[in-house]
Amino acid sequence: MNTLNANSQTASAPSSYKNSSRLRVSILGASGSIGKQALEVARENPDKVEIVGLSVHSDTSFLVDAAKEFKPAYVCVSDPAHANDTCLEQLNSAKNPKALKPEILIGDSGLEEMARFPEADCILIAVVGAAGIKATHTAILSEKRVALANKESLVAAGDLLMTLAKPGQIIPVDSEHSAIFQCLIGETNFEDSLECIWLTCSGGPFYGCTKEQLKGVTAHDALKHPSWTMGPKITIDSATLANKGLEVIEAHHLFNAAYDKIKVLIQPGSTIHSMVSFKDGSTKAQIAAPSMKTPISLAFSYPERWPLSDSFVDYQNHAPLSFGKPDSNLFRCLPLAVQAGKEGGIMPAVMNAANEVANAAFRKGRIGFLDIPAVIEKTMDETKNAPLESIDQVLDADYKARLSATQLLNK
Ligand code: NDP
Ligand code: MG
Repeated sequence: MNTLNANSQTASAPSSYKNSSRLRVSILGASGSIGKQALEVARENPDKVEIVGLSVHSDTSFLVDAAKEFKPAYVCVSDPAHANDTCLEQLNSAKNPKALKPEILIGDSGLEEMARFPEADCILIAVVGAAGIKATHTAILSEKRVALANKESLVAAGDLLMTLAKPGQIIPVDSEHSAIFQCLIGETNFEDSLECIWLTCSGGPFYGCTKEQLKGVTAHDALKHPSWTMGPKITIDSATLANKGLEVIEAHHLFNAAYDKIKVLIQPGSTIHSMVSFKDGSTKAQIAAPSMKTPISLAFSYPERWPLSDSFVDYQNHAPLSFGKPDSNLFRCLPLAVQAGKEGGIMPAVMNAANEVANAAFRKGRIGFLDIPAVIEKTMDETKNAPLESIDQVLDADYKARLSATQLLNK
C-alpha cells in the first residue's frame, strides 16, 4: 500500500517543478469555493505560481474573466451544455489581436485531458463529487503533483488510487488532512509510533440539537455553517456529518491508518484543524484560522511555506478551546460512512453516491434532514458488495447506487 509519508515529499516533488521558477498549476473546478481561493493564492504569489489550466462546469463568464486575468494555455468547460455560451467568444476574439487564445476543451474528456497535459506540474482537483474520480486517476497516472480537495475520489476509489500514486504525490487540501500531514512531517516510521489521529469537526450548525429539532430543519438552516464558507454540497455534508464520515475514509487512505485509530473530535470554532497522538503520550496539533487558503497554499508550496495575508489566529483574544464527541446516534451519516469504509470494496463508492443524491434532494426540499441517512442506509443495504478491481467498476457502482437512491426518493 502506498502511504502518504510527509518525509517522502521532498524526494518525490515533480522534477519539472524543481527546475522551473514557478509552479505551473491547473485548477479543475476553478469557479467553486476552493477554486476561487486557489486563484487568490496565485494572485498573492505571482512569482511562485503560474496558472496554465482552468476548468469550470457551467460558469463560463467566471472562466472568461479568470482566463483574461491568468492567461492559461488551456481552459475547459466540462458541461457540454455550456460549450457554446456566447461569452466564450471573447477568448477567441478576432477583434482583439492581443487576446490570448487558450485551447478550449469540452466535456468530461476535456477535464481528463487537462489532468494530463504536459504543461502542468500540479493539478488541483477542486471539482465537487464523484465527477472528480477520473480526473484524479488521470492526474496520478500522469505523475503530476496532485493537490487533492476532491475527497470523494479517494472515498470511492482510494484503494486503487493510493496503489497507483507515487509516495508523496498526493498532497491533501482538505484542512483536516493537511493538518495531519503537517503533524507527521519529521516523524519517521509514524505507522509504528501512531497512537491515533484526532480528526476535528466543528459539529456543524446543528451541534447539540435534539432529534425533534432536526426533523424540522431546512436546507436554508443547514447552509449556515458556523465557521467555514464552502460550496453547497459540502456545507450540507458538514451539517449531517457525512463530510466527517467521508473524511475518516480519506484519512484511512492517505495515512494508511486503521479505522479504529481515527477518532472524530468535535472542536467548535474549527481552530484546531486536526491532531495526531503518538505512543509516547505526545500529541501534535495544527492550528490556523479557518481559511482554506492555508492548506491550498501548502499543497502548492510544500516543502516550502509561502506567506499569506489573512491566515492568523489572534491567540491573545481567542475564546477557550472546547472539545466534544459526535452523536453518532443522531448524525447517522458518520457511522454509515465508517461502516462503508470498513466493509471496503465498492461500498464506499455506493455510500458516497447515495449521499450525493440525498444531499441534492434535501437542498431541493424534496426530503427532510433525517431522510438523508435513511436513503444512504437503504442504498447500502440493497447493494451486494464486491472487491474493488478497476476505476470503471467504481464508476459503474456509483451509477447504479445513484439509480437506487433516486428510486428510493421517488417511492
Ligand atoms: P463548489 O460547489 O463551490 O464548486 C464546485 C466546482 O466543481 C465548480 O467549479 C463547479 O463548476 C465544478 N463542477 C460541478 N459539477 C461538476 C461536474 N459534474 N464535473 C466537473 N466539474 C463540476 O465546491 P467546493 O469548492 O466547496 O468543493 C470542491 C471540492 O473540494 C469538493 O470535493 C469538496 O468536498 C472539497 N472541499 C471543499 C472545501 C471547501 O472549503 N469548500 C474544504 C475541503 C474540501 P461550475 O460552478 O462552473 O458549475
Ligand atoms: Mg475538511
